[in-house]
Amino acid sequence: MGDFPNKFTSEELKSRLTAQQFAVTQKSGTERAFTGEYWNNHKKGIYKCVVCNEDLFTSETKFDSGSGWPSFYDVLTKGKVKLISDKSHFMVRTEVLCGMCGAHLGHVFDDGPKPTGQRYCINSASLNFAEGQNCSL
Ligand SMILES: [Zn+2]
Repeated sequence: MGDFPNKFTSEELKSRLTAQQFAVTQKSGTERAFTGEYWNNHKKGIYKCVVCNEDLFTSETKFDSGSGWPSFYDVLTKGKVKLISDKSHFMVRTEVLCGMCGAHLGHVFDDGPKPTGQRYCINSASLNFAEGQNCSL
């Protein structure tokens, strides 16, 4: 899976993540649409990687995609996520991983809104929301 600066053992992650968080981030799982914690969250804040706590997305670029998953048209800063080609389920999609720990976050599609045209479709189970926290840039 390549090299990531933040590494955790499965044992550690199993002990501190929920079963769903583990399945999504470590086994490339997908939560069911409209069931996650954040798809309908409109509060201002930062979305962090649930595994390594890295800041990944901000409410500033979150939009209502109607998909039932938290959707963003951009990442907080370039390099926060790693994109790889995913050919599972008889489709070619672009998988989004945390750039620091390699956690599976979701997929990115090119049918998003301006200005990027990107739609990062991310599992709530991969994220931790820090309300009111300003962008750390
Ligand atoms: Zn991470």
